[in-house]
Amino acid sequence: MSSESYDVVVVGAGPAGLMAAGAAGAAGARVLLLEKNPEPGRKLLISGGGRCNFTNAETDMHRLVSRYDTAGKALFSPFARMGPAQVLEFFSSLGMPYKIEDNKRAFPRSDKSSSVLQVLLHYIEKGNVKLRTRTTVRGLHHDSGRVQGLHLNDHDINAESIVVATGGLARPDTGSTGDGFSWLEQVGHSIVRPEPSLVPVVVAEDWVSDLQGLAFADIRISLRLGDKTVSKTDGKVLFTHFGLSGPGILNLATRMSQAAAEARRIGGPAPSICLNFFPSLDGGSLDRRLQDELNAFPRRLLRTILESMLPPRLARRVLVEALASTGTSNEITASEVPKQLRKRIVTLMQDFRLTYRELQSEDWAVVSSGGVPTDEVDFRSMESKRIAGLFVCGDMLNINRPSGGYSLQICWATGYVAGLSAAAAAAAARNASGG
Ligand SMILES: Cc1cc2nc3c(=O)[nH]c(=O)nc-3n(C[C@H](O)[C@H](O)[C@H](O)COP(=O)(O)OP(=O)(O)OC[C@H]3O[C@@H](n4cnc5c(N)ncnc54)[C@H](O)[C@@H]3O)c2cc1C
Repeated sequence: MSSESYDVVVVGAGPAGLMAAGAAGAAGARVLLLEKNPEPGRKLLISGGGRCNFTNAETDMHRLVSRYDTAGKALFSPFARMGPAQVLEFFSSLGMPYKIEDNKRAFPRSDKSSSVLQVLLHYIEKGNVKLRTRTTVRGLHHDSGRVQGLHLNDHDINAESIVVATGGLARPDTGSTGDGFSWLEQVGHSIVRPEPSLVPVVVAEDWVSDLQGLAFADIRISLRLGDKTVSKTDGKVLFTHFGLSGPGILNLATRMSQAAAEARRIGGPAPSICLNFFPSLDGGSLDRRLQDELNAFPRRLLRTILESMLPPRLARRVLVEALASTGTSNEITASEVPKQLRKRIVTLMQDFRLTYRELQSEDWAVVSSGGVPTDEVDFRSMESKRIAGLFVCGDMLNINRPSGGYSLQICWATGYVAGLSAAAAAAAARNASGG
């Protein structure tokens, strides 16, 4: 039925698939890379706001793997072969200078994700990889516990090894529609249901849309369930028309949805997201700072003074909240501010509360949780433990991670190991059959 045959076929030309195809090609395999979009790397191009935080330059291996929760242990092996140091070396040796920003986040010096894609396209070209776009894979063909090839719409392709790199379920508009999960389920893998993971959150307060577009570089975010603080982090926060986004919020999103589930279970109120816009000051210092401002400009409107301490739209919201149910006019001047009101404002600047409603959908997610359980894959080779000749990499794996370059680091390491192992397995199969 098939007229085509390859050593290695890689499905999905995202970062993991491109790396896998390039590595297999460099190892001498005849490689076909299939992509259903008209062009490769669509999600890679929008990564990091178009700048692509392509790895995290954490060199301490124990600290690095600790960022990946319980799955971290499995990553020791692929990271030993393609850890952050090797990733930086890989990209710079192929002509992409880079820079390291705060929290060890690595970016191309051009600030363009297209520079990262260029390197990968060059890498697959060097390895003589055949890239075929606008080609949707429909499923795997296997026999006696070994992959044999795959099905396209109009014909089949034979392959000694297949690397599935079809991504997770976040941002399906980029092509990551979870196709590979059903194929793997059919060959005996148990797929953990993918959920949006690094994802913005929707809040209950409608007025949040008035704050849309406000961004804060490093504020403290606390998640509170009743009187209890269940999680706390410092990070960037962005107000959107529906709620909150930015790395600090994305990193807490899963914890927020767990807290909401807990609140529902015990019949309590929804969790609060509390923002401290002055994390480096204690309450007393902030109060003194506000007091100094009020004393220095007694005839100024309180609103004007707050607008000098906070972005004007946020200052106005703080004032609305502070004056709520006091009957005080918002035209109040600095000299008229009673102590109680001043204290209330200080509290709002350091404990500004929003009510969690839900996670945004996967259309907004940076990554999804879930996927292929790590114990069903041999991380020394990235080969499936269910079926021989099948390799899995990138976002398909069930590995939680924070934002900061940790996702793409998984793609490079697991893609690289999958590509090399797929090439070696194909060579071994060819030798065994005398081919
Ligand atoms: C907005 C945004 C910003 C991000 N920023 C960062 C960042 O700065 N740093 C970071 O580390 N991570 C970031 N990420 C996450 C990172 O982009 C992903 O972890 C990474 O792209 C996953 O790579 P992948 O190759 O596993 O899958 P994908 O990039 O999802 O690629 C899978 C490919 O497979 C193709 N495909 C799917 N099904 C089929 C099929 N049936 N046949 C043929 N082809 C198929 C798809 O079209 C797609 O091209 C970001 C994600 C988003 C959405």
